[in-house]
Amino acid sequence: MTNGIHEDVIPQIDAITIQTDRPLIITDADEVLFGFMQGLEIFLEEQEMFFDWTSFALHGNIRQKSDKKPVEAEKIPGLLEQFFDEYAHRLPPVDGAAEHLQKLSETAQIVVLSNVPPKFAAKRRESLVKSGMDFPLIANVGPKGRVVNYLSRNLSKPAFFIDDIPTNHSSVFKHATHVHRLHYIADDRLAKLLEPAEHSTARLDSWPELYGHILDVIDKG
Ligand SMILES: [Mg+2]
Repeated sequence: MTNGIHEDVIPQIDAITIQTDRPLIITDADEVLFGFMQGLEIFLEEQEMFFDWTSFALHGNIRQKSDKKPVEAEKIPGLLEQFFDEYAHRLPPVDGAAEHLQKLSETAQIVVLSNVPPKFAAKRRESLVKSGMDFPLIANVGPKGRVVNYLSRNLSKPAFFIDDIPTNHSSVFKHATHVHRLHYIADDRLAKLLEPAEHSTARLDSWPELYGHILDVIDKG
C-alpha cells in the first residue's frame, strides 16, 4: 500500500490516525497556509536577486539584480534549501487560513501535506503552531497522489486536497480520483499567472470560498 511513497514519509503517515468516519482535509502549506512568495521576495532581496513574475515557476524567474540574468537551474535547489532553513518558521500566515481551518476542524480532520524538506519539518511545525494551525504535518518528498490516496483510502466521508501547484493536482487525480481537488493560490500576483489546474475539481480564490465549498460538499454528501 505504501508503494511509491518515499521512505522518509512513511513513518510520518504512520504517526497519524485517520478517522475514517469524518471528512478529511489534506492541505498544502506554501501559498495555501503561508505566504511563500512574500517570504521569498524578502529572501531574494537579501541575496541581491529578484523574482520577475513572468510565469508560475521558480526556474527562469529568479534573477540576479546586477545583470538581470536568471539564476542557473542547478543553483535553485541550494537556494531553496537556504530559504527554507531561514524562513520556514517565519513565513506570514495567509489571511483567513487559521480561522477557517479551526472552524472546519469541528467537522473534519485536517492534515497538512507540505513538500517542505523533511529536515525543516520541525521549523514548519513551529510556524503552524504559532499561527494557530496546530494540525499534524507530513513533510512529503515527491508527488503527492499516492500519499493522498493512502490517507483517504478507507474514508466513508468526503476527502479534500488543497494545493497551488497543478502537477500536484494531476498526481492526486491519477492516484486518488475520489478526492475533491481544490486549486487555490494565495498570492494574487501568482494566481493571475495561472489558469485553473487541469486536474482540479474547483478553483477557489480565498479561504472563505474554500470554506463554503467544502461545507457544501460535506452537506450534500
Ligand atoms: Mg504550495
